[in-house]
Amino acid sequence: MSWGVEDEERRKGVLALMEISEKIMRENPNHVNEVRKSESGCWMEQIYGILRCDFCDLSVDCPIREEQMWQEYLKANNIVIEKNS
Ligand SMILES: [Zn+2]
Repeated sequence: MSWGVEDEERRKGVLALMEISEKIMRENPNHVNEVRKSESGCWMEQIYGILRCDFCDLSVDCPIREEQMWQEYLKANNIVIEKNS
């Protein structure tokens, strides 16, 4: 697992997340255990209350991120999925 600290934007994002999480933990040390599961299923949104799926690779099972990767894969391979409406 890489934190990608060589990437300035990403490094700033990680620092911001650490600040947010520190604040959350100060207010409620049990936040991670007590937090309700977010509707989107996004881990970032659940824990931090922000949608930063570019950071969800710290968590392997974000459904939004998986969907994004899936769509990118389809696009890259020119796969079109017929949607039954
Ligand atoms: Zn996410």
